[in-house]
Amino acid sequence: MNGNDVRLIGLRQGLVAALLSLTVGMHATGAVAQQPVASQSRNLPRILVLATGGTIASTSDARSAIGYNAGGITGEQLIAGVPGIEKLASIKAEQISNVGSQDMSNKIWYQLAERIKEAFDKNEADGVVITHGTDTMEETGFFLDSILATKKPVVLVGSMRPGGTNSADGPLNLYEAVEVATSPQSANRGVLIVMNDTIHSPRWVTKTHSTAVQTFQSPNSGPLGYVDPASIRYLSPAPTSRKKPLDLPKSGLPRVEIVYAHADMDANQIEDAVQHDAKGIVLAGDGDGNASKAALDAMEAAARKGVVVVRSTRVSSGFVNRNVEVPDDKNGFVVSYDLNAQKARVLTQLLIGNGVTAPEQVQKAFQATY
Ligand code: GLU
Repeated sequence: MNGNDVRLIGLRQGLVAALLSLTVGMHATGAVAQQPVASQSRNLPRILVLATGGTIASTSDARSAIGYNAGGITGEQLIAGVPGIEKLASIKAEQISNVGSQDMSNKIWYQLAERIKEAFDKNEADGVVITHGTDTMEETGFFLDSILATKKPVVLVGSMRPGGTNSADGPLNLYEAVEVATSPQSANRGVLIVMNDTIHSPRWVTKTHSTAVQTFQSPNSGPLGYVDPASIRYLSPAPTSRKKPLDLPKSGLPRVEIVYAHADMDANQIEDAVQHDAKGIVLAGDGDGNASKAALDAMEAAARKGVVVVRSTRVSSGFVNRNVEVPDDKNGFVVSYDLNAQKARVLTQLLIGNGVTAPEQVQKAFQATY
């Protein structure tokens, strides 16, 4: 049998605890290309791990995932807890932050973006792995994917269960993220998210379950591929060209609010956003990006004042289409197509930060993203 015996041992604040022992056989060859993991060699790929915190950097009671604190273990400790990872790559870890990703901020996004650009410009690394909480991972991934021009892989990874629990998924996820980041097959695919043996694009992926390890799904597109400790399978070749990245706005990211539609909705959320100087408003609308007449009237008034108004949906899959139930042309609205509200917000921030505010131009940029 062609097989790799991979034993992953989780480290809990310096105390080694055996978490997972896994024998992996080579899977039957499918229709898609298979890439063996890197074997130990003197010329290992150089991977820069940028640690930001999250559950992957947390500890908890060994019996459960209840009552833990996201963030707390450093990137170096995380790597030390995954024996075998040193055979994949020569790894250097840096701590960018150590927060639960509910506290992810524009400031940390800029630090990440600037460090990744510097590392690739100075040829310090062949790939980057970012350890991150899962709550806002799709937003960070989408932000970086929108502004980075690199062909080299940038992979985000996290975990749903803290280190030290019986079911910790962090060590294997981190192993597989490094595996993906070192693969030549991962070049020119933009930023990637690796969780639970699956490779996703931050453009399409979203967190769909509050606690399950299979939480990351790409409902409109499916995953880009699959990974296990023995192989990587992409479902299609890397694109031959990629969209032009947006500039990282020098003056920072403007305030863009998300308002969530519901039955019996009035205008308050929208008027509050305008009063608090929002430069953009994204509607997490009903169905095809809809909302009550009171809310739509307030959105139209905001658009007339120059606020960028984008209709997205609170529904987890599908597209928001122009001028179906809502007269977008007349009201000066933009639709987000497939982008959920949290990613539509990031794109709206980047566009306004780059001086793109006219509804037709903003709409073109949303269209051009796929
Ligand atoms: N709220 C935490 C975070 O996003 C925990 C969730 C997680 O990482 O899985 O960092």
